[in-house]
Amino acid sequence: MKTTIAILPGDGIGTEVTREAVKILDAVAQKFGHEFDLPEGLVGGAGLDAENNPFPQSAADICAGSAAVLLGAVGGPKWDDVPTESRPERGLLRLRAALNVFANLRPVAPHPVLTGTSPIRADLLEGVDIMVVRELTGGIYFGKKERTADSATDVCTYTRSEIERVLRIAGKLATGRRGKVTSVDKSNVLETSRLWREVTNELMPVEFPDIEVEHLLVDAAAMHLLSRPADFDVIVTENMFGDILTDEASMLAGSMGMLPSASLNDGTVGLYEPIHGSAPDIAGQDKANPCAAILSAAMLLRHSLNLEEEAKAVEDAVTHALRDGLRTADIAAAGEPAVGTADMGSTIAAALA
Ligand code: NAD
Repeated sequence: MKTTIAILPGDGIGTEVTREAVKILDAVAQKFGHEFDLPEGLVGGAGLDAENNPFPQSAADICAGSAAVLLGAVGGPKWDDVPTESRPERGLLRLRAALNVFANLRPVAPHPVLTGTSPIRADLLEGVDIMVVRELTGGIYFGKKERTADSATDVCTYTRSEIERVLRIAGKLATGRRGKVTSVDKSNVLETSRLWREVTNELMPVEFPDIEVEHLLVDAAAMHLLSRPADFDVIVTENMFGDILTDEASMLAGSMGMLPSASLNDGTVGLYEPIHGSAPDIAGQDKANPCAAILSAAMLLRHSLNLEEEAKAVEDAVTHALRDGLRTADIAAAGEPAVGTADMGSTIAAALA
């Protein structure tokens, strides 16, 4: 049976890294005997240019008929002066809303051969394997906003059910990992955080009795992420704290070009994308690291298609290429030769064959 995966390359290096991720999906299909239909849609600036819409109906239709969506990145200076409502990033928000994805998963596991590319001391990175689960649709980013000339208000709201559903995803992930969930909040100051902690303390012992639960205030969590990163397993937190902590955590791995992400809903349809943007400074130069996009495809195989063996094979192929010394410019040490985006992708695809 054919499985349809929507491919939305987007803008800038999004198109380049997605091309390599598609090579990998083709290689997986060939090796494991699957049939993947990979229709492409326009999103972001590409959608604006072609259809005056950052998430055109044509792309929405492709996504609606797909088991999962693989996205590159959106945005770039060309669209900087576009009104807020139709900016490329709006296309991404509308895509997330259309798929109803509420939990953003960002694994951070610095590759042992790349610890030198992180600004964090190599001895602190030993054994680091963190899964950050960020709530994606609630909190201050989506609350009521008010503005006068002299004052501004952003309202932060969370409901019990919004907290419960993201905790369940964190609990399930921890069950298949090292059995620990760190819940991050600011319950000494914020009412939403007090509800967050209350719901965590009610739900976790009942639904996940074997999982160890730790609570950290977000300011302390920011420090502990750098001072004892190996102690974390799954971190679960609300939208804004997650936004900030995941960018901090990405530095443990050295380059944004190595980090994938998955955004999940209650069902199996998910949105998979590298954590980086469209990188206009290197776009069109065959310099982008495609590993984050390729590892996002591995997450897609695991979380939406339930193909664990295939996902692991892709991750092993990336490891194989890195162990063989292949480096794109962002992860090459000073003086070390770098390969281009297409060569990196082809070598990883060949390692899968
Ligand atoms: P960026 O992530 O695009 O780039 C930041 C830096 O990291 C740049 O120096 C870039 O060259 C480098 N980099 C990023 N990905 C890389 C890769 N795969 N390989 C090698 N180097 C890589 O962030 P930015 O420059 O702040 O934003 C550029 C555009 O991307 C903006 O329009 C922004 O709005 C958009 N953006 C989109 C997304 C998304 O689509 N999810 C996320 C972040 C930013």
